[in-house]
Amino acid sequence: MLQLIKNASQTQGNQAIVADNQTYTYQHLLEASHGFASILLEQTTDLAEARVAFMVSPGFDYVRVQWGIWRAGGVAVPLCITYPLPSLEYVIDDTDAQIIVAGAEYAEVLAPLVTQKGLRFIVLTDVKDAALSPKKLPNISPSRRAMILYTSGTTNLPKGVVTTHRTIEAQVSTLVKAWEWSANDHILCVLPLHHVHGIINVISCALWSGATVEFLPSFSAEAVFGTFLQERINVFMAVPTIYFKLIAYWESLPKDQQQIISDNLSGFRLMVSGSAALPVSVMEKWKTISGHTLLERYGMTEIGMGISNPYHGERKAGYIGKPLPGVRVRLVDELNQVVKAGQPGEIQVKGKNVFLEYWQRPEATQKTFTEDGWFKTGDVAVVEKGYYRILGRDSIDIIKSGGYKISALEIEEVLRTHPAISDCSVVGIPNEEWGELVVAALMVKDPEIDLKSLNQWLRERMPAYKVPRHYKIIEELPRNAMGKVTKNDIKKLF
Ligand code: ATP
Ligand code: MG
Repeated sequence: MLQLIKNASQTQGNQAIVADNQTYTYQHLLEASHGFASILLEQTTDLAEARVAFMVSPGFDYVRVQWGIWRAGGVAVPLCITYPLPSLEYVIDDTDAQIIVAGAEYAEVLAPLVTQKGLRFIVLTDVKDAALSPKKLPNISPSRRAMILYTSGTTNLPKGVVTTHRTIEAQVSTLVKAWEWSANDHILCVLPLHHVHGIINVISCALWSGATVEFLPSFSAEAVFGTFLQERINVFMAVPTIYFKLIAYWESLPKDQQQIISDNLSGFRLMVSGSAALPVSVMEKWKTISGHTLLERYGMTEIGMGISNPYHGERKAGYIGKPLPGVRVRLVDELNQVVKAGQPGEIQVKGKNVFLEYWQRPEATQKTFTEDGWFKTGDVAVVEKGYYRILGRDSIDIIKSGGYKISALEIEEVLRTHPAISDCSVVGIPNEEWGELVVAALMVKDPEIDLKSLNQWLRERMPAYKVPRHYKIIEELPRNAMGKVTKNDIKKLF
C-alpha cells in the first residue's frame, strides 16, 4: 500500500489519528511506521514477503505496525484481539508467520506460543521507536503480497485471503472516489481490525484521503453517541447489529435526550452498513432517529467492496445497489451461463480489486475461479430495476425444498415485521421427502407468542411452500465477531 505512504507525505500536518485522548499527525505516523519498519529490518534489508502476525488494539499503534510491516516489505497478518488461543495459533500456523508482534496487553497471552514455536517476538512497550536510527527501506513492487486476512468463517473454517499492494490500492481508491472521501472527513472506528470492513473501508480509505480516524477505547452505544455529540465525526460505518444496538439504546432514553442526539446527527456526511444484510426495519428506524438513509453495500474478504448503493441518488432499502466503478459483476446459473434479466444467479466478480489466492490452498483457489477468470462469490442475487438484491449464500441461505429455491433472507425480512418478533434466522434442514425443510429460530418480544397464528399470519404474506415448518424460540442468535449469524449453529438446534 505504498500509495498510502505517498499520500501521507502530502498531508503531513493533518490530524491522522485520535486515540486515548491523544492526536497524531500524518508526520507522526510516517516517522513511527518507519521506526517500526527499522526494528523489523534489524537482521535483513527486506522482509521479502515474510508473514508478520500482529495482535494490537485499534489505535495509533495498530496503524504504525501495519504500515511498518508494509514498508519493510512484509505481509501483514492482523490477529483478532478477542480470539482464544487455539484460533490465534491456527492463523499463526496457517500463515507460517515467523515474526509475532504484540501490544503490551497481549504479550502474556502470546508468549508461550511464541517460545514453543521459536518465533521472533516484538512487544510494543515504547511508542518512541521512531527515535531509533531509521533504516533504508526496500523498494516494493505493487505486485508483492501485502496482507493475509481470514474470512469470517461463517460457512467453514476461515480461509487466508492474500491481497497484493495493487489489490488493496484498487479496493481503497474505488471507494474513496465512489463515497467522495476527503481530507475534511473524520470517521469513528468501532469495527474490529482483522477484516476488510475495518481495515479497508474505515482506516485505509480515511488515511488515503488525509482524513482523521478516531478510535474508542471500547464499544458501547453510550460511548458512540457521546462521541457523536462532540460534533467532530462526520462519517460512520458499522455492521447491522451495531445499528441495532444503537437504536435499542436510543429508544431506552428519555424524550429530551433522544432529541438532543437526533439534532446532532444532522451534520453527518455519510453512514454505511455492510457485512451482512441490513434489515429494512433497521434502515427505516435509523432514518427516523438520524435523518440519514444508510448506504448499504456488499463486499467480501476476497474482493473488498463490489456492489454499493449510490452516494448520490436513491439508496434502496433491501438492496445492495450497483457494481462499483472498476468492478465487473455478472450473475450466472448452475451451468455458468449468464442468467436472463430478472432471474436470480450467483454473483461473479472480475477486477483489480479481486484477491490473488487463498494462502497455500492452490486447489481452493483454482476451484473458486472460472476458467475465464471470474471469481465465484457463492452469493446469489437478482437485479431489479438496475439494483442488486441479495438472496443469500447458495450453500446455506438458498433452501432447496420440493423443487423450489427459497431465499432464507426474504422470509427473515417478513418475519421481522411481525410485532412479537425481534429477530430471527431461517435455515433449511435435511428432509427425505422435501430435500430440505424451512425452519426458523426466533427471538421474541412476547414469550407467549402463538405459533399457530404466526403460521396463518405468514400464509397471508408468502406462498405456503416458504412458510417455516418448525420454530425454535431462543434467547439470542449465535453470531461471530462480525455480527453474522452462524447458521450452522442454528441448524444444530433442530
Ligand atoms: P466464510 O467465507 O469463511 O464462510 P464469510 O463469507 O462470512 O465467511 P466475509 O468475507 O467476511 O466472510 O463475508 C463476506 C460475505 O458476507 C459475503 O459473501 C456475503 O454473503 C455477506 N455480505 C456482505 N455484505 C452483505 C450485504 N450487504 N448483504 C448481505 N450479505 C452480505
Ligand atoms: Mg465467504
